Amino acid sequence: MVEIKVKGTDEKLRIENIYCIGRNYLEHIKEFDTPEKKLEAPKEPMVFLKPNTAAITADYISIPVLKGKKISDNLQNEVELVVVIGKDGVSIPKENAMEYVYGYAVGIDFTLRDVQAALKKEGMPWALSKGFLMSAPVSEIVKKEEVKNAENLCIRLKLNGEIKQDANTSMMIFKLPYLIHYISSIFGLKKGDMIFTGTPAGITKLNSGDKIEAEIETVGKLNVMVV
Ligand code: MG
Repeated sequence: MVEIKVKGTDEKLRIENIYCIGRNYLEHIKEFDTPEKKLEAPKEPMVFLKPNTAAITADYISIPVLKGKKISDNLQNEVELVVVIGKDGVSIPKENAMEYVYGYAVGIDFTLRDVQAALKKEGMPWALSKGFLMSAPVSEIVKKEEVKNAENLCIRLKLNGEIKQDANTSMMIFKLPYLIHYISSIFGLKKGDMIFTGTPAGITKLNSGDKIEAEIETVGKLNVMVV
């Protein structure tokens, strides 16, 4: 069972499914451009999942080890606004989607970029590169009443004190009500589900000893050390 503390209360919320949106900020999509190939903005949200063991949160992150060897040498940061769902729903209309939100958190969608690239090349699912243990740490959850407009918040990530990601949640391609409508129509949503809403530009290769400070205005902060 994975539980996350609710800020300012004694409550903890049990985390169920973790939905993640890829390519939801234009400047981030451009980070993958090569002279031969430019990625287009998606026509519909690009959804992938992580197991809830990804949300086990500590103050450190490490690359999984298999047969005595780290499975990657390119761990990267993706700071994201996380929407936490407060009640069950299927085919939730966009118009009242925000009624289904319990609150928000700061999350990091840690990614093994080399593993992801290799799996993509083979046309294989990239679960390993995104869903590994503790790959989706989150801050305490802030109840939605405390966040005036989740679609206009500064979102930042510092690496060893230097700003690497600096954007605003207003820059998302697919907005929160549509993401809730879309995911609930296909998968259904449950209380305790989380939606990682995509990362802005500024992904960086991380090294052991790196100190990451992620922050979203009025939502909170999350500090993680790479070990
Ligand atoms: Mg991401």
